[in-house]
This record gives sequence, C-alpha cells and structure tokens, in this order.
Amino acid sequence: MKRKLLTYLTCPRCRLPFTLTVERAECEEILEGELDCASCSARFPILRGIPRFLPPDLSAEKQATAAAFGYEWTHYSEITEADQEEFLDWIRPLTAADFAGKVVLDGGCGKGRHIFQVARFGAADVIGIDLSDAVEAAYPNTRHLPNAHVIQADIYNLPFLAPFDLAYSIGVIHHLPDPKQGFLSLVKHVKPGGRASLWVYGKEGNAWIENLVDPVRIHVTSRLPKFLTQVISFFVSLPLYAALKLLYGPAERRPGLAWLKRRLPYSGYLCAISGYSFAENMWNVFDQLVAPTANYISEAEMKDWMATAKLGEVRISQRNNNSWRGTGVKPREA
Ligand SMILES: [Zn+2]
Repeated sequence: MKRKLLTYLTCPRCRLPFTLTVERAECEEILEGELDCASCSARFPILRGIPRFLPPDLSAEKQATAAAFGYEWTHYSEITEADQEEFLDWIRPLTAADFAGKVVLDGGCGKGRHIFQVARFGAADVIGIDLSDAVEAAYPNTRHLPNAHVIQADIYNLPFLAPFDLAYSIGVIHHLPDPKQGFLSLVKHVKPGGRASLWVYGKEGNAWIENLVDPVRIHVTSRLPKFLTQVISFFVSLPLYAALKLLYGPAERRPGLAWLKRRLPYSGYLCAISGYSFAENMWNVFDQLVAPTANYISEAEMKDWMATAKLGEVRISQRNNNSWRGTGVKPREA
C-alpha cells in the first residue's frame, strides 16, 4: 500500500478517515501495518502490502465465488500486451484518453490487468478492489506503478466516500448474488459529474450457455476441487482451440470466408477470441465452468440499472452478440 492511498480511504462503518500504523515498509510501500478508525474502533490489517477490508459475515455464496476466482487469477497471473486491446473493447465508447488525470475505481480487479492498463493511460490514481485472493496477484503485478493501488474488499461495502471520476467493472457484476445492487454500490462512489462503466454477460445470445453449460457448471464443475475443474477445462479446450484456429480464426480474418463466419455457431464471440493462446483459452473455459454464480443480464435490465442510478448520457451496446457494455454519467448535484 502506498501512503497516497490513505487519502482515499474511509472507515466502511462510520465513513471517517483512518489512522495509519506502519509495522514494515519499503520506501513509500507499506507492507505490514494497520488502519484504525478512532471513531468506531474498527481495525483493518495491511498484510503483504494490501489493506484488507474483508467483512466477517461473508455469505457462503460470496466465499465460494471468491475462492473460484482467487484460484483462477493466482494460477493465471500474467498480464499480456493483448490485454490492452481487449480492455479498450470492453470499455467502449471510452478510450485511453478518458482515463488521463482521473481518479479511477476498478470494481473487481482480478489479477490487476485493467489496473495496469489504466495506470499506463495516465490516471491520477487507479484503485482496484477485489474480494478474492486475486489481490495477491494484482498487487505484485502493479505495485511498481506509482498511481496503482490494490485493496481487498467487498463491492457492496467499500471503504470510500465518492472520490472517483470514473468507476468501471468488467466481467464481475454478473457473478454477484445481486448484480443490480453491486452496480449501484459502484456508482455510489463516483463523484457527481463522474462516469460509471460496466461489461456483463448478456441474456441475449447466451441461451445455449444457460440451457446446456450452466446446469453442468451449477451442479458439477463449480463444486469440484478447483484442480479437477482445471483438468476438465484443459480437455474441453483441446477441441475448442482446434476449432478456433482452423475455423473461426480464418473465418474472422479472410474476407473470402465471410459466408463461413455467418454459418458457424456462436461466431460473433468465438471469432473475437480466435486469437487467444491455448492458456488464455483454457482459463477462459475455466472461468466459465468454475463460477458458483453467473447471471445473464438483458438489455432491459441494463437500462433499468442506469435509470435507477439516475445516470445520464447513457450508452449501451452489444459486444460479440453475447454481452452488454454500458456507460453513463452521474448527475451533478443541484
Ligand atoms: Zn469507523
């Protein structure tokens, strides 16, 4: 944790600033210590460089979700150059320039790949939050960046007031037990006039996943030991990888094969990921199979969330025919 992060943090119970106690530090980086609230006596440890705000009453469902994604991102922790292009597609119509000079919240940062991009885009500060052990990957992946921060916390109960110019959540909200409340919690921490942005699985275009894959995920693969789900993902990925490289990749790249792209099943999405490496492909399958909770969000629900949050300038667009991205601006106070 960098000392600068303290200026953004407030006690999640009484919303007052913390007193910082440093037990071990390396230059600006506090590795072990404690954040104390003088008002309510709440104490939150800083362990291995990361402030921990884990609520004591975490539901079994949230614990299982955190365990699933903690496993994924601590076993697949690399950040690649291709991550930038994918992030910019997830976040559209925003561009890299929209992050410059901004204070940014990443709601569900996983291994920190988006924090890494946003820090490089020139954000004043970007703070990634995650409930899971993925923070153990996100922190070493980003600690060298002076404007990048990582905390372990629950999106429903974050230790901030509303310091953010921009808050985004990519691929996370749909794994929450109550996705709409998760989105509203994210928006709560955005300044008036600031922006919220998200990407979620779509209800539209995913009927076969809901009907065929989800029963297997819910009843089998999300309940197995993670290593076994990883092994299953490996074997599922073998024929999928072959199809991506031999069919979907050429159909995507060669104009003469546009007819093939139209006929291949689920081609919007599978053509888009046809450039994935085998490892990316396998962990993408694992991601799909391991989650205890996955909600598929309709365009109408996205619109309802934006309206409930009273966001203006709302833009919602479909991505790869199977997911939604949306953004809107929080009104300025009267
Ligand atoms: Zn307090």
